[in-house]
Amino acid sequence: MSACFQCGKELTYNEIGAYKKFVNRGAAEFLCKRCLAGRLDVPVELIDQKIEHFKQQGCTLFI
Ligand SMILES: [Zn+2]
Repeated sequence: MSACFQCGKELTYNEIGAYKKFVNRGAAEFLCKRCLAGRLDVPVELIDQKIEHFKQQGCTLFI
């Protein structure tokens, strides 16, 4: 399992998906959703909402 390259936290499948979706589809290293939210300057809750939204659309980056 990959770890966040900023804080070292172990990443979930959906966190990796979120990074690919919001930052770079071809990324080889990822941020956890807390660090991703900081980088995008949005609340973590928004990341969660977006993950739910894409999941409901059937996006395979999320489970
Ligand atoms: Zn992190």
